[in-house]
Amino acid sequence: MGSEKRQPARQERPDPEWVRGVCPRCGEELVSKCYYVGGRGYLVIWECWSSLAETSTCDYRRVL
Ligand SMILES: [Zn+2]
Repeated sequence: MGSEKRQPARQERPDPEWVRGVCPRCGEELVSKCYYVGGRGYLVIWECWSSLAETSTCDYRRVL
């Protein structure tokens, strides 16, 4: 014990304060993300939590 390697814990669920609803395709949480687009300002996009995982199983996203 003591020298065991540990992977950093991956966050399994999004932070509740970013959750904006449920994905209509797969039922995972939709999380809101803010992107800065030069010349246009900030864009808010709701992305399916599954699409942000290492192995994305869903590509649902909605631009507000
Ligand atoms: Zn989804």
